[in-house]
Amino acid sequence: MADQKNPCDLPCTKCGSTDVMRRFWPKGEQRQAKKYDGFMSRFVSVSCWSATAQRDHIVHHCRCCQFEWSTPPMTARKAA
Ligand SMILES: [Zn+2]
Repeated sequence: MADQKNPCDLPCTKCGSTDVMRRFWPKGEQRQAKKYDGFMSRFVSVSCWSATAQRDHIVHHCRCCQFEWSTPPMTARKAA
């Protein structure tokens, strides 16, 4: 796993831009949903206008093409 990229090194998967805004979203934290009853990502459940993270994840938002996607956080390194 040494060559696995950290979430902060991931370029936009749509346009390749590295100008990506990222926000960590911890499990259980509620935020305002973007769409009513809309699906945001596989890490989030949405009901009415509130969205709740089902697990820790990072939301990436590309400033170049506005694409948004989510990834799991870094996996904790195991002590050798
Ligand atoms: Zn992009």
